[in-house]
Amino acid sequence: MDDVFAVLPSDSHLNNILSQLNQCVPSIKFTLEKETDVGLPFLDVLVKRGSNGFPSFKIYKKATHNDSYVHWFSPHPKKIKMGIVVGFFTRAHRICSPQYLDDEICRIRDVFKRLAYPKLLVDDALSRCRKRFYSSDAAVSFNFNNVLVVPIATQKMEKILHPDINIITNNCNNIGSFLKNTNHNTVTSGGVYRIPCMDCESAYIGETNDFKRRMYQHEYALRTGDINSSLYNHRVEMNHRIRTSDAGLIMKTDSAEKRLLYEAFIINNVDSFNINKNNLIDRFTNKVLLQSSKLTYFLKNLNNIT
Ligand SMILES: [Zn+2]
Repeated sequence: MDDVFAVLPSDSHLNNILSQLNQCVPSIKFTLEKETDVGLPFLDVLVKRGSNGFPSFKIYKKATHNDSYVHWFSPHPKKIKMGIVVGFFTRAHRICSPQYLDDEICRIRDVFKRLAYPKLLVDDALSRCRKRFYSSDAAVSFNFNNVLVVPIATQKMEKILHPDINIITNNCNNIGSFLKNTNHNTVTSGGVYRIPCMDCESAYIGETNDFKRRMYQHEYALRTGDINSSLYNHRVEMNHRIRTSDAGLIMKTDSAEKRLLYEAFIINNVDSFNINKNNLIDRFTNKVLLQSSKLTYFLKNLNNIT
């Protein structure tokens, strides 16, 4: 047995409980660590208690920890190094509550920057991690019974084989790794989105550069009763039901300026329950934008969504 995490009533006599525990088996001696203002570390997780009573989590590192991992100049294969970075990002996504995730991602970036990892590889590792973490079906669809191991896999091969067969390549020096990637058409994951209320005509309008990630944050805010969340407030004030699974991107774009502008325009012209309304556009600009038949058509369609 190693660490034990225990929640006890605030009027418990901790030292009495500890001495009782230590009398059970003479060879096992427990020590006690109490919650402080910082929180309570448990294994590699720092558990913090919010004012609403719900716990939040972040990565815990001992003060003596010095972030020394495989250096980029070490002879390990690139695949291994990639795996290490993906692993760190994945752990951050699994452990950190949304409010601490960005800081932890920045910290991981700094660590691998110091170890001379190329920025592109770290970016790639993060997007691989997110893709896996935020997609619910990625891990389930793999059938280990129909595996074909080949030295080199090509898309052509996948086409002629039965779709249930999973091809695994055992050689990382495949043809693809010697070719230059000219496909820059990465999928747009950002835009302006709408989360409808199930019980009234109103909706929440937001913008994000990563839709799945943002929905995860909204879901978390609803679950933990975040008083700053418009969704949570609407649910509590009106006693209405809101599901993030009903949300959808109503306009896709990777441009942050466009997203903010459209978000403001839509909020100004539809029934929304956003607490902090994006007031990027004034009434005059709004009027000018409404002259555009394309935009009024867009709004009309939006108001017809049920
Ligand atoms: Zn409602």
